[in-house]
Amino acid sequence: MSAVSKESCAWLGLGGNIGDVKAALQQALRLLNTHPEIAVAKVSPLYKTPPWGVEDQPWFLNCCAQIVTNLSPEDLLEVCQDAERQGKRERTVRWGPRTIDVDIIAFDGVEQVEQRLTIPHPRATQRDFVMIPLADIAPELVISGKSVGDWADAMDSKKLELELESKDWWQT
Ligand code: ADP
Ligand code: MG
Repeated sequence: MSAVSKESCAWLGLGGNIGDVKAALQQALRLLNTHPEIAVAKVSPLYKTPPWGVEDQPWFLNCCAQIVTNLSPEDLLEVCQDAERQGKRERTVRWGPRTIDVDIIAFDGVEQVEQRLTIPHPRATQRDFVMIPLADIAPELVISGKSVGDWADAMDSKKLELELESKDWWQT
């Protein structure tokens, strides 16, 4: 680990569709926030979204969060995966049902393509359930040459329903 670490902003996408998803998302966000090198700065409203990829499964709850961290992107991914494990995610079918999924959507100044960690997340700009909540907290953030607000405007927001609008739903 380097002796000098720099605070960076990162944006996470969280979702799930099995069990008490709202409780699992709250637990994951609180866990991230209690990590000594992570502070949760903003959380989007919670959205109810139709399944993507494999369509024959329950609707999802999704949200995005902006965090501030001293961790490297790889170490942040470890913490995200710990949060998934604590939410008892079982990895079975790709894009299939899951109790909780925590992805790194973007990380300040980082662009990398590696199987273990690709930043920006390679499918994020195609996903309404990522771009629409992300546009609520970071409309000016540029991903793949376009602002998140512009990505979101090009999507059909009618497919998403607001589940909880308050910005501190995850703390209550
Ligand atoms: P998805 O998020 O696409 O539905 P998974 O959560 O099962 O699929 O992710 C599988 C793997 O993707 C993880 O083990 C992780 O190493 C890798 N991965 C690559 N880039 C990212 C990223 N930006 N955020 C989270 N995981 C990533
Ligand atoms: Mg994932």
